[in-house]
Amino acid sequence: VGPNDSPERHAADTVAAGDGLCDEPAVSVLVDDGPRYVRELIEWGARFDRDPEGRLDLAIEGAHSVRRVLHARDATGREIGRVLAGRIVGVESVTVIDHALAVGLIVEDGRVVGSTFVGQDGRFAEVRARATLLATGGAGQIFRETTNPDVATGDGVALAWMAGAQVVDLEFVQFHPTALAVPGAPRYLLSEALRGEGARLINRDGEAFMARYDPMADLAPRDRVARAIVLESERTGAPVYLTLQGLSPEVVRARFPAITELCARVGLDLATDRLPVGPAAHYLMGGVATDLDGRTSVPGLYAAGEVACTGVHGANRLASNSLLEGLVFGGRAGLAMRESEPTGGLPDAAPARSRSASGRSNRAALPLTEEALRDLAWRNLGVFRDDALLSAALEVLDPAAEVAAGMARDASLSDPSMWRLMSLVTVAQLVARAALRREESRGAHSRTDFPLRDDLHWKRRLFDAQT
Ligand SMILES: Cc1cc2nc3c(=O)[nH]c(=O)nc-3n(C[C@H](O)[C@H](O)[C@H](O)COP(=O)(O)OP(=O)(O)OC[C@H]3O[C@@H](n4cnc5c(N)ncnc54)[C@H](O)[C@@H]3O)c2cc1C
Repeated sequence: VGPNDSPERHAADTVAAGDGLCDEPAVSVLVDDGPRYVRELIEWGARFDRDPEGRLDLAIEGAHSVRRVLHARDATGREIGRVLAGRIVGVESVTVIDHALAVGLIVEDGRVVGSTFVGQDGRFAEVRARATLLATGGAGQIFRETTNPDVATGDGVALAWMAGAQVVDLEFVQFHPTALAVPGAPRYLLSEALRGEGARLINRDGEAFMARYDPMADLAPRDRVARAIVLESERTGAPVYLTLQGLSPEVVRARFPAITELCARVGLDLATDRLPVGPAAHYLMGGVATDLDGRTSVPGLYAAGEVACTGVHGANRLASNSLLEGLVFGGRAGLAMRESEPTGGLPDAAPARSRSASGRSNRAALPLTEEALRDLAWRNLGVFRDDALLSAALEVLDPAAEVAAGMARDASLSDPSMWRLMSLVTVAQLVARAALRREESRGAHSRTDFPLRDDLHWKRRLFDAQT
């Protein structure tokens, strides 16, 4: 929406960050439809930050060639969520069932006809519908180090996989370079917008080292900054820091109040302290394969947002394209679902029917704990990978995923932590499989045994599905 910006320029930045693997028709949809959806959001009441003249205040983040990122201080997603949640209230045809955990998709004659879930009361229920949309977000929780909330367990990917849907690009996990790395504290995200405003990465000697690793220095794409941080930290044997010491403390605190508050929780001052940072799993570029209208490979099943993979991000997402992707492709999926064929007399959505859960937990059946799984994923599927690490991970994950699939078919467990672990195991296995198959380095996928990008063999996307 900026005066010196255009869809073409936004597309060029998106494709450059995606390292040769973006689906270009999907990118065109994103950048062409994007402004319309953003304007609609503003009409619905979204309050993005403005400059003193009342013009939208645009931020710049890594790998963007111009200032283009709308923001609501440093909690943009929350503002978008506030507006969208507010729109739902009062729409008569929408019934909201809060805190329900979707645990299965109902497949009949090769078509998804609804979903099973465990309600807040611990009872199983099902909803039948002629179109079902997965919007369960990402899977950062498979890694020990992550910026993602607790609920980002990849459930939608696991559910779709078990229902026979295609998944794609799962080797591409974005590791955000600057999660706050204070031992024992959560990995709070120190947004890229900080570097956009002039924050610098420094080593223990105070040297701004990024230019030694990358011509774009601190504003290089996330994958390259994340790798540089790991290498610099290994070289010096010490942590790497983010510093905002060159900026006005008042401006920093006014522009980034939420991050200021997060730093204060661990005794650090965002504006004046050196902040220890390191990479953490942040975003899943891959996911359930969809077309440009959210359709998966299984009739009746749609997906949008981080759980879906339209191909728009390629091998590495351009910062802030995710919320836009959710808006644009979520909107398109909604329209497509409305037009979907009524089949077999199914209503748009039938009221939920419920039954008691068995109360069994089967905890002993899965051969690893959540903690062990997240540790394994971080060590073996993290920023740098190779054949030995990935194969070793699969030796643990393959049998565990088989047990998880059996338990999911049983579908009578009432213990939410078991469903969570089953999703984590399933998605971790899919990530490891994909990462082992792709014998090159591209975007966020870095193989130390295949350090170069290899367009001849690998300029293609890897789809996977259960046979
Ligand atoms: C700290 C942080 C900062 C970010 N900043 C930016 C940014 O500035 N710009 C940007 O573009 N992107 C940003 N991202 C990425 C972006 O926020 C996400 O990609 C985006 O929110 C995904 O939206 P979604 O609707 O697909 O999923 P989510 O917003 O994650 O929502 C998924 C929902 O599904 C629910 N759910 C999950 N599993 C189940 C289940 N089995 N049953 C029922 N419900 C379930 C979850 O509870 C959650 O409410 C950031 C991410 C993080 C973690």
